[in-house]
Amino acid sequence: MKPRIAIIGAGLAGLTLARELNSIADISLFEKARGLGGRMSTRRNDTHQWDHGAQFFTARSRAFNALLAPFIASATVVEWQPNITTLSPDQAPFKRPWFEPHYVAAPGMNSLLKAMAGELDIHLSTRVEQVRAHNGGWQLFDDKAQLLGEFDWVVSSAPLPQTQELLPKSLLGDSLDRYQMLPCYSLLLTVADADLPHFDAAKVNNDPLSWISFNHRLPGRNIQAGTVVAHSTADWAARHLEDDQAQVKQQLIERFCALTQVALKAITSAQLHRWRYALSAEVTEPEAEFVLNSQAKLAACGDWCLGGRVEAAFTSAYALVQVLKAQL
Ligand SMILES: Cc1cc2nc3c(=O)[nH]c(=O)nc-3n(C[C@H](O)[C@H](O)[C@H](O)COP(=O)(O)OP(=O)(O)OC[C@H]3O[C@@H](n4cnc5c(N)ncnc54)[C@H](O)[C@@H]3O)c2cc1C
Repeated sequence: MKPRIAIIGAGLAGLTLARELNSIADISLFEKARGLGGRMSTRRNDTHQWDHGAQFFTARSRAFNALLAPFIASATVVEWQPNITTLSPDQAPFKRPWFEPHYVAAPGMNSLLKAMAGELDIHLSTRVEQVRAHNGGWQLFDDKAQLLGEFDWVVSSAPLPQTQELLPKSLLGDSLDRYQMLPCYSLLLTVADADLPHFDAAKVNNDPLSWISFNHRLPGRNIQAGTVVAHSTADWAARHLEDDQAQVKQQLIERFCALTQVALKAITSAQLHRWRYALSAEVTEPEAEFVLNSQAKLAACGDWCLGGRVEAAFTSAYALVQVLKAQL
């Protein structure tokens, strides 16, 4: 009989695990959100679409390039060659060259995950609330205390604090303590301004904002002009995490206007998204690509093991797969 594996989280790490293990194990993938994306999410309405999590990704390893190759061939993943600038409140803008390929998924950032999902057995809108030891295996329960199933193995690809809530600390030891996740605010704007700045995206320095992108200029999109995503710095988000959200939104809108010279009255809609666990702090100690207790049949992986980023999520999951394949 194939081992039964529960995977928590259907972001890039969870989907990588599920795809790679699907032929040798019975995989059940649980995702609390209604749709696929995780931190590579896309939010849509009738006219606009915002990639409010990851903005782009690089592909340095052979394994990640191999995963992407068919998706590049089908134009689900497209190289992004933006006109990118650097902005700062106290310096003139300067152009910022990129020295390696940067990719986005199309038509939305979550398109890569949707394409990867294929025929996998994914339980959306299913939050795993409890992981309980039972008869030498594991039982999973949802937020209504309903049994989701019994499994031989449990692997969490949820962001670190959510993984820490779910998996018994006594079995994963202190290894999780050295990782840390940082917050971020995303501002999702529509701007009715015929005279938008000429750049496609901007890295921002010395400001509460760290990044501005005109999403309608991303490749493979068919959305109205004036679709903007702006991200705060992690530091600023941490200091204002529990502030009144309307005030946070207003402050970030004002920074956007000051940096881009877009008039406040040109902003026709604004939404704020608070990511409590957005990015990973750099890991100072020698890195482990994943966390594994083979005896207990518990594991955890995700971008946070390797200092964050899309490729880190893949690398962490892929490295765990290689070890699990030898143990299953
Ligand atoms: C604002 C922002 C900007 C970013 N910019 C970039 C960028 O430009 N380039 C880059 O490379 N990276 C960027 N990143 C980081 C990148 O998005 C992540 O590194 C990557 O998407 C992480 O993938 P993952 O699979 O490890 O985690 P996630 O995508 O977070 O997937 C984990 C999944 O677990 C689910 N989950 C959590 N708890 C439970 C539970 N109890 N039950 C069921 N499901 C659960 C979540 O809903 C989520 O879908 C950015 C992230 C953010 C937030």
